Amino acid sequence: MARVPSGRVHNLINIAAYSVLAAGALVATRQDLLSVTPAQGLNFTLAFAAGTFLLSPDLDLAEGRVDSKRHWGLLGFLWVPYGMMFSHRGLSHTWILGPLTRLAYLGVLIALVVGLLRFVLPDLTLPPVPQLSAEVLAPFGVGYYLSQWLHLIADGMRPDHGVRRGYRKLRRR
Ligand SMILES: [Zn+2]
Repeated sequence: MARVPSGRVHNLINIAAYSVLAAGALVATRQDLLSVTPAQGLNFTLAFAAGTFLLSPDLDLAEGRVDSKRHWGLLGFLWVPYGMMFSHRGLSHTWILGPLTRLAYLGVLIALVVGLLRFVLPDLTLPPVPQLSAEVLAPFGVGYYLSQWLHLIADGMRPDHGVRRGYRKLRRR
């Protein structure tokens, strides 16, 4: 198997890319070439950081020891089923669906926790789900996907990766 970047190298690549991008965005904003509100910048940054440190494609190795699982601390075990479900560098490392599998998995985790809380504490009132507009969601989406794609590029994954091989591998399991 070809050598692939370690979690640490992935983190460094993403941090470097973010720095260049942030500096570029700052300069472009000063020159009135780009208009990014502070809220948009923050949302982009949060999603990029989450995608880099918490939702890395290498969570498909979470059944073992992997950097991206360690960032979850005590909650790292929550990703073990994800690691068992997805073969390493298979569907999890595809460009469009791969990042969505981790968001969907996270959504299921949150739904389970909320369901459990409602069951254990029926009187508990949970904060309402905020109504998110496209202006808020777009920087999140761009930040998240960019962090994922930088990982895939560093891994040598092409945008058409998994369209054939990844799915076949998944079915074989
Ligand atoms: Zn990877």
